Amino acid sequence: MREARTTCPYCGVGCGVVASVEKNEIVDVQGDPQHPANFGRLCVKGSALHETLGHGGRLTRPIVDGVESDWDTALDAVASRLGAVRDAHGPEALAAYLSGQLLTEDYYVANKLFKGFLGTPHLDTNSRLCMASAVAAHKRAFGADAVPCCYEDLEEAELVVLVGSNLAWNHPVLYQRLKVAKQRNPLLRVVVIDPRVTDTCELADLYLGLKPGSDARLFTGLLAWMAARNKLDRVYLEAHTQGFEEALAAAQEQNAGVEAIAADCDLDAERLETFFYWFASHLHVVTMFSQGVNQSSSGTDKGNAIINCHLAGGKIGLPGAGPFSITGQPNAMGGREVGGLANQLAAHMDYDTPGARDRVTRFWTTAGLVPCLPEGPGHKAVALFEAIERDEVQALWIMATNPAVSLPRTDRVRAALAKCPLVIVSDCMANADLLAYADIVLPASSWSEKDGTVTNSERRISRQRGILPPPGEARHDWWALCEVAKRLGFGEAFGYTHPSEIFDEHARLSGFENGEGPGERRRLFDISGLAGLGRAAYDALEPIQWPVNVAAPRGTARLFTDGRFATPDGLARMVPVRSRPPTQALDAARPLRLNTGRIRDQWHTMTRTARSPRLMNHRAEPFIEIAPEDAAALGVEEQGLACLQGVGGRYVGRVRVSRGQRRGEVFVPMHWNGHFSGSAFSGALIDNHVDPVSGQPESKHGAVALAPLPVEWEATLLVADDLGVAESRWCDRSQYWARIPLGAAQRWQLAGGQPSAGGGIESASGEVESAHGEMAHGEMARGEMETASPEWLSWLEATLPVPPTLWCTDPASGRLRAAGVDDAGRLRWWFMSGPPKELPNLAWLAERFGEAASGESMAAEHRRRLLAGCDDGAANQGPVVCSCHQVGQRAILGAIREGDDSVEALGARLACGTQCGSCIPELKSLIEEEKAHALAEPIEDPAVA
Ligand code: SF4
Repeated sequence: MREARTTCPYCGVGCGVVASVEKNEIVDVQGDPQHPANFGRLCVKGSALHETLGHGGRLTRPIVDGVESDWDTALDAVASRLGAVRDAHGPEALAAYLSGQLLTEDYYVANKLFKGFLGTPHLDTNSRLCMASAVAAHKRAFGADAVPCCYEDLEEAELVVLVGSNLAWNHPVLYQRLKVAKQRNPLLRVVVIDPRVTDTCELADLYLGLKPGSDARLFTGLLAWMAARNKLDRVYLEAHTQGFEEALAAAQEQNAGVEAIAADCDLDAERLETFFYWFASHLHVVTMFSQGVNQSSSGTDKGNAIINCHLAGGKIGLPGAGPFSITGQPNAMGGREVGGLANQLAAHMDYDTPGARDRVTRFWTTAGLVPCLPEGPGHKAVALFEAIERDEVQALWIMATNPAVSLPRTDRVRAALAKCPLVIVSDCMANADLLAYADIVLPASSWSEKDGTVTNSERRISRQRGILPPPGEARHDWWALCEVAKRLGFGEAFGYTHPSEIFDEHARLSGFENGEGPGERRRLFDISGLAGLGRAAYDALEPIQWPVNVAAPRGTARLFTDGRFATPDGLARMVPVRSRPPTQALDAARPLRLNTGRIRDQWHTMTRTARSPRLMNHRAEPFIEIAPEDAAALGVEEQGLACLQGVGGRYVGRVRVSRGQRRGEVFVPMHWNGHFSGSAFSGALIDNHVDPVSGQPESKHGAVALAPLPVEWEATLLVADDLGVAESRWCDRSQYWARIPLGAAQRWQLAGGQPSAGGGIESASGEVESAHGEMAHGEMARGEMETASPEWLSWLEATLPVPPTLWCTDPASGRLRAAGVDDAGRLRWWFMSGPPKELPNLAWLAERFGEAASGESMAAEHRRRLLAGCDDGAANQGPVVCSCHQVGQRAILGAIREGDDSVEALGARLACGTQCGSCIPELKSLIEEEKAHALAEPIEDPAVA
């Protein structure tokens, strides 16, 4: 057994991980106690990393025009086809769409090839969907895309304000740090500003459930309130900022009275003023903001409205003070550093930076090979796919992202991809929806194989180390890019043999002619102190925060401590902000406001996290969260199926009635791709409206209609992975389906119209010719069963290669349970008609699929248990709340009812909440709900009363 230190590939917290490796396999992961981001903590996604590995489902060979190929053929095809498009239509017909999942070294090479040598500006990234508004706000205010804070500021603050951030689910380890900070310092206050009551509210001293999109009104109101109450830091404003009067005037244009602001934000005025008072009266304030702010058509303004308040109070550049944008992806920051956004060049230089284009051209000129950098910025993500629609972009190379699921108007994105003459996809997984549109597929290395660096939300560069060899012929993205560059004649500039050489060049560029021009300020992004490391030092590189240079050889925890910013005059800019509503308008046809976001246990479009069965149990199916009053008015029920209709399509999911949801609004998760459900793309419900400055889509403010999904039947089908039966047999005929991996089997949740009437799963033709059924406890003879459930039996017989061998019906409900057991005694499939709330304990059944063949005939008792779906009569435990210990909701509720009504007591009894702690807010909610429920129950015995 050996141990390797690396970094988690999921969220922007950037936790350090220690992987235990045995026989070329990662058998365990633990948090790295030495890593300053997490000090040994991991959330449930991080701790399940080793469960998402393995060669199954991986892309292992290049594919050209649908045919498996070899790398030479594929690379030749990529180079010749890119070259042909460039020759025929010019460089601007070429584009690349990258990802915050890529390592900095991959990003650097892609940017250098496309912008530097192919000469197209159209290289953008899925980070555009995540934090582009924060980038634009930073640049407007500070003169550079620089996050002022570090994680330690959470521990140093007196007040932490969380805006549009469900930290408990989306950045769980930061949430844990904040929680510990609050336990150690009871004077630390936390304010949560979010339209939804999320698990993060567990920490809140004050919760403001504002109207979606009113954040800018709230923060411009705060600025005006601070001015009116003489709570500004006039000295700081005078010495370190510019534009205050204009910013204040804009803030005062709307009625600046607390009552008016509260009315516009749909908040209680007293609570709002409490927040204003807290913010204004503390110096050490950290405002963390995330996608709830950024994913808006005014996201940049919202970011600047927050930053304005910090500048106006001098709450920046100090321990425990500053506006703190938290990125979604592990390397969104690294992509920004190399120029991975279409409006950037490289090393934080953009087209507006005087002399930057010439400087980068000089730096990249190699052995007489001169780059041909574009003159101006390219298409941002949404505009890029619109350019494909217009046939302006003819060739697109997509790396490590799934725009067919994640972009707004997925219908239009898919149509654009289908018509694009050349689509090249580099990916590690074979279950990305995108592959259906690819002309050329390049198998990429994945986490644990990739070798390079990532930068987290606090500017900390960490090594993500190559621990295992890539499977089959999968290769690193930087290598594939270099091979294509060589074939295009740019070999001299792409002769890297190891990622350390790429990192070295990146570090040198960051320091190249940095601040040397007359009157020029140093560029903040400067890691020249990491240039020339050599391979051994690069391999051993410890996490470090940029800038890293001669002045700061050990890195820099906080920025702007001297009150000097990256603008030409060193003054921060106060930006006038005028609040404006979302651009996706509600109307009679689409009267509900749609919010989209992440769930605790999944990542992006599930291509990796869905490989861990335990991560699928928290929220197993796509869902729609809705307020109880709206659910009643619209006729939808808890756990029923409902359909959302949006501008670009529909979304079908299971209803979750939630008191945390505001009336008139619904929430859906953004994760489900076409391999896990038939109609659950949140992107289809979002129009492609973007922020005019950042180009970030308005993903938090869709407009939708909701109605119950009328179905006549529901069913659950579990099928062994190796049964080799095409899922289209049931998916194509269902109005709703969801696939839930269980380990050795897949669970299919199905619903539709009349089983034998064409709308749903139709019955198989023909009669069942022979009786396979064995009598077990509660079973009926074949003839009786056909009378009870003829369609299902025939359908199962016709659909699955192993015929029904066990079956029974519940006499009361008429529900059918059936199973197929092969001659070797192995369970091959299991079926139950009816809605999933009636399911037995599937964990036990899932284990049966993994059992080896015994060759012996099955005992009657075992057959009975198989049909019952459990060993001991245990019912389905409901959704898993604690993913680490797989503790279900029903067990928790049962324990609470028996008196274990604290998190500690539940942990002692069931172990829930005792590992990563991500489920503790949910445990607390269940305790509170159960207590409230008990109090509300009528007292039946008057004598007791
Ligand atoms: S908090 Fe983020 S980086 Fe840390 S383990 Fe969880 S998903 Fe990974």
